[in-house]
Amino acid sequence: MKNTKKDIRVLTKDELIKFFVKHNISPFRGKQVYQWLWQKGVHDFDSMTNLALVHRELLKANFEINHIKIDVEQKSEDGTVKNAVKLHDQLVVESVLIPTESRSTACVSSQVGCSLDCIFCATASMKRMRNLNADEIYDQVVSINQQSLIYHQRPLTNIVFMGMGEPLMNYKNVLACIDKITDPEGLGMSPKRITVSTSGIPKMIRKMADDGVKFCLAVSLHSAIQDVRKQIMPFATKFPLDELLKSLKHWYACTKKHITFEYIVWEGINDTKKDIQALVKFCLQVPSKVNLIQYNPIDYSKLKEVPFHVIDDYIKTLTDSRIQVTYRRSRGQDIDAACGQLANK
Ligand code: SAH
Repeated sequence: MKNTKKDIRVLTKDELIKFFVKHNISPFRGKQVYQWLWQKGVHDFDSMTNLALVHRELLKANFEINHIKIDVEQKSEDGTVKNAVKLHDQLVVESVLIPTESRSTACVSSQVGCSLDCIFCATASMKRMRNLNADEIYDQVVSINQQSLIYHQRPLTNIVFMGMGEPLMNYKNVLACIDKITDPEGLGMSPKRITVSTSGIPKMIRKMADDGVKFCLAVSLHSAIQDVRKQIMPFATKFPLDELLKSLKHWYACTKKHITFEYIVWEGINDTKKDIQALVKFCLQVPSKVNLIQYNPIDYSKLKEVPFHVIDDYIKTLTDSRIQVTYRRSRGQDIDAACGQLANK
């Protein structure tokens, strides 16, 4: 028989409260259920022990709780943990725990596959199957938090939306998930520790700014020259750099938050002085910093990362122009857990 019950975790806190009020039950029960679902992370109604049996039965008659399962857990030599996460409809996404000396970062997926076509990213080879629900993203965070507690004896310090998918193409659910991560009755984490990474969709960047979000923004730039960028990120033909820049200025005006530009340097693509100068010019127009990322080769691509002296050129030129720059070493390459390598192998 096909299950037609609604997943209770699709409801907002208000909707949960309204459900109880509609059944002439105290709104307080709604708040309690919210805490069971989001603070304590229970997976069945019988675990909600401070609810009367009749209330639990009422919930069971109306709802179900879908939850993710970690199907395979792989550990890298450098401590990175990659999870193959099975969803209730058997589709699989990946999530990663990235430990450093002082941090435990969760890298989570927002979509099954991706509709964008970045030629350097393994996820682009899978077509976009569907968006993840807020709870499916949230569960990835909770499970990685548990792994961090087990392997590193500390809770998560940071969350990055840099797994599979384009978070801004699943905006509503990503936002609903972040609400629960930051809600004191959820995980109570500061939005300052959350970064949403986008390939750069101007309309959605404006919307986020207008919505007054409090988390950090990273943009996968990879080139500040439109003709170059659209070769490596073909969808960017629809979102030219000048529009992207305008939306980022709007973001800064509304949020007063610096933007991080993610940037990989490839041989023969963006390795000339002209590329560096274009990046400097772009960065000087909006408060920002640059995160140079080590390229993680993917099977079917001929792209090659530049020798380090080119990275050095980038770092020197940016620094001379007082633009903050960091170089991010790859993590978890041996288990294909690194950026751009997530493709359900
Ligand atoms: N769609 C979002 C989030 C997923 S990609 C975005 O584009 O930002 C997360 C980060 O990994 C992005 O900065 C992306 O450019 C980078 N990335 C993708 N493929 C990569 C690869 N093969 N090596 C290194 N970084 C990669």
